[in-house]
Amino acid sequence: GSLDPALADLVQRREATFGASSVLFYQEPLHIVRAEGVFMYDADGNRYLDTYNNVVQVGHCHPRVVEAIAKQAATLNTNTRYLYDNIHEYAERLLETYPASLSNVVFTCTGSEANDIALRLAKLFTGGRGFVVTENAYHGNTAAVSEVSPASFKGRALPPHVRALPAPDPYRDPTDELGERFADQIEEAIGELEEEGIPFAGFIADSIFSSDGIYADPPGFLEHAIEVVHNAGGLFIGDEVQPGFGRTGSHMWGFQRHGLTPDIVTMGKPMGNGFPVAGVVTRPEILQPFCDETGYFNTFGGNPVAAAAGLAVLDVLEEEGLLENAEKIGSYFRQALDAMQQLNPCIGDVRGAGLFIGIEFSKPGTTDPDPAMATAVINAMKEEGVLIGAAGADGNILKLRPPLCLETEHVDFFLESLFDVLQRQSS
Ligand code: PMP
Repeated sequence: GSLDPALADLVQRREATFGASSVLFYQEPLHIVRAEGVFMYDADGNRYLDTYNNVVQVGHCHPRVVEAIAKQAATLNTNTRYLYDNIHEYAERLLETYPASLSNVVFTCTGSEANDIALRLAKLFTGGRGFVVTENAYHGNTAAVSEVSPASFKGRALPPHVRALPAPDPYRDPTDELGERFADQIEEAIGELEEEGIPFAGFIADSIFSSDGIYADPPGFLEHAIEVVHNAGGLFIGDEVQPGFGRTGSHMWGFQRHGLTPDIVTMGKPMGNGFPVAGVVTRPEILQPFCDETGYFNTFGGNPVAAAAGLAVLDVLEEEGLLENAEKIGSYFRQALDAMQQLNPCIGDVRGAGLFIGIEFSKPGTTDPDPAMATAVINAMKEEGVLIGAAGADGNILKLRPPLCLETEHVDFFLESLFDVLQRQSS
């Protein structure tokens, strides 16, 4: 159908100014005017349960975070070459959440920048330049990071220094040796790089394979992969931009579910609950050669307002027990979805950890992806007042990452909506 005239005008203005870079969700885009907690509201006053947004970890417009940002902005904001108090407190508090060996942090403004630095750290520390990634990974938008983001290549060939392999998918490939097999594939990819005279620098992955399709289990399966990476002299870069800050419930960081310590960790998205702040955490001996060589400096990264936002997020996560909530509500959510799967042959799999949940749509009786069903459900759920995104190369996997303050009543609303939508799809 045709767009409402007010919406059409906004879309037209956006396209006129942003050109081809205007990216919007939904055929009929949403005009959002405010948000609070787990809900967003459009210009007509319609309310949407936000299960898509992985930025507002502690809830939209959380008053603690808003106040911290406003107060700091009214007191001091500056480039980052001065001594000011809250950045030290923030750095110390943040590093306390990490294994002790990861004792240095570099603040940036985006996850892309953080991964760009991570690649440079790995190259300088190892002397290599080859990277191994997963087939549909996304790590960001700089020139270098795009090259390790096959999701941005739309089927075009990756540059020679990058090898991509399938993410470990226990739904299509059930095995007791998931970790061993994945490690073997990494070893093979490293071998291929070296055969072409490209020394190996590192393996970059997020511990829940967010863009590949949300593969969380079994916890620990990544250990084998890291062993192979280290034996080959490479570094493991853990991209925590999506699984970090308690998203997976049991732990602050996704890699902790696998019982391992990356050499470099990058983080972003939820770090300032919407205020742009991101960062890289690593060991001092990995950071040193990079700083010696580049004199690295970041004008905005970790400025006083960013630090205030970051500190407030850590406070709220702790005081509101949001990791525990993610664990509790997440398992309630997945159990209910498991039950729904029994009644709906179009749901092939339900998986995830904490409040990072994947719902995979497959053609009934097979594991063949059903992207048309996922798209239909995403659009129909919007009409019910629920926002969801998709993951996976085929876009057939619903990707749920609601604020961690989600409650059972919100889950029930989601489930009722999904039930109605699936009922209508099948009739
Ligand atoms: N890594 C992962 C896993 C991401 O999902 C993203 C953003 N989608 C990035 C890095 C890049 O972060 P940013 O958009 O802040 O540059």
